[in-house]
Amino acid sequence: MQQQIEAAKARAGRTDSVLLVAVTKNHPLEALEEAVACGVTAVGENRVQEAKQKFEGYAGNSVEWHLIGHLQVNKVRQAVPMFDLIHSVDSVRLLKEVERIAERENKVQRILLQVNTAREESKFGMSAEDLPAMIALAQNCPHVKVEGLMCMAPYSENPEAARPVFRKAAILFADMKQHFAPGQIQFLSMGMTNDFVAAIAEGANIVRVGTAIFGARQYTL
Ligand SMILES: *Cc1c(COP(=O)(O)O)cnc(C)c1O
Repeated sequence: MQQQIEAAKARAGRTDSVLLVAVTKNHPLEALEEAVACGVTAVGENRVQEAKQKFEGYAGNSVEWHLIGHLQVNKVRQAVPMFDLIHSVDSVRLLKEVERIAERENKVQRILLQVNTAREESKFGMSAEDLPAMIALAQNCPHVKVEGLMCMAPYSENPEAARPVFRKAAILFADMKQHFAPGQIQFLSMGMTNDFVAAIAEGANIVRVGTAIFGARQYTL
């Protein structure tokens, strides 16, 4: 996987780093442990409950825990103590709850704002128009540190179809940097098994990959 990421970077003429988040959802704890043993430094889960089971059972080397799936307001209390980076903050209500819980936990929670630049009704993520209000709110949340944006493209047989969606996110990401301290806005999380090459071409520096590492998921949990 690292080699494929390096190849995609080379094709895009990039020499900066791209963080691989190995998406372990619907795979057992052993798969996660094996990935870390093979050099993975960050794992991604999309459900708080499933992540918690693995988090509590995990005894391997230190690894970053990333929440990549939709976060319900009533799960924030469980999520904040567990996750290093929450990719999926997409509403005012959710941001306020993360701030409230992080304050109680005495933690500064690192987050990304999830934008939906594909304008799909069914997907999570806020629209580009809602971003300025979220940025303004985040600046008044001392226990939340916004570090960038997350974006998902609709699944398509043709991964190139994702490029305009990723490009819009990259533009928003560049604009966003002006509103925060220098260096704070670092991460553009986009690209999965099917479209990470396109995402890297458009500037992603976090890719979230499950299937290409672990094989197809078994939805029997
Ligand atoms: C499942 C998931 C991924 C990984 O998907 P693959 O196609 O298996 O690589 C990435 N991001 C999010 C938000 C996911 O839910």
